[in-house]
Amino acid sequence: MPELPEVESLRRILHRSAVGRTIKNARINEPRLRRRISADFAATLGGRRIEDIARRAKYLVVSLSGDLTMLTHLGMSGSWTHRGDGFDAGDFDPRHDHVVLALDDGTTLVYNDPRRFGLMKVVRAEKLGALPELKGLGPEPLSREFNADYLASKTRGKKVAIKNLLMDQRIVAGVGNIYASEILFFAKVRPTRRAGRVTHAELERIVAATPRILRAAIGSRGTTFRSYRDSRGQPGRFAERLQVYGREGKPCFVCSTPIRNVVVGQRASFYCPKCQR
Ligand SMILES: [Zn+2]
Repeated sequence: MPELPEVESLRRILHRSAVGRTIKNARINEPRLRRRISADFAATLGGRRIEDIARRAKYLVVSLSGDLTMLTHLGMSGSWTHRGDGFDAGDFDPRHDHVVLALDDGTTLVYNDPRRFGLMKVVRAEKLGALPELKGLGPEPLSREFNADYLASKTRGKKVAIKNLLMDQRIVAGVGNIYASEILFFAKVRPTRRAGRVTHAELERIVAATPRILRAAIGSRGTTFRSYRDSRGQPGRFAERLQVYGREGKPCFVCSTPIRNVVVGQRASFYCPKCQR
């Protein structure tokens, strides 16, 4: 499943290649995503200029001329690719090309999604903040708002495991399973610890580790498991840098103790029993 680093690295590439282009026409091959794409989606997009591509949590927020915004989410298996001459579509089954935006320079932006859990909608820009998808999201993990005092205010008295709390989008937006495990390894905190019992010094380590790990992952185009590809069809390279995620039974890179896997909130959670307390 694409997490924040995958979405952010995708955003950066699309921002360079697609902003300033005009959508000549939009074609919907399959409207049945997580929610059905509205019937007027294609007609609304035609003729609009792409003015900006931003990100909120794991959503891409595409500003279009005429004060419209396209909101899109990759769900479990979605990808946006910007295809021109020489694009190798070999990794993408054309049966899953659900949305195709033809741009004025002859290139196409293609949304491919085998499992169809993605989301696609267009709204007036001023209505964006009120959308149920974005309303109630916590601060961005790469922002100053996500600091130890903020996190302390959210963990105080909480019995939930710290890893679950970090994955709660209302607390901090966009930290998923892979990176929550990695952040807690760098912070030396076990994923199962009760959030309310995590000390302020440990919260400071969590807050410091978060942007470090996410930025390193963004620099590597994220982590590719199964089918994830970025907008040029490239896999991410962060998997080889993961310290604990997916490494059950393998030696910790710091102390050689075998990495353990424990289920927290129904998600696999990897940690080093010696390095993490
Ligand atoms: Zn260790």
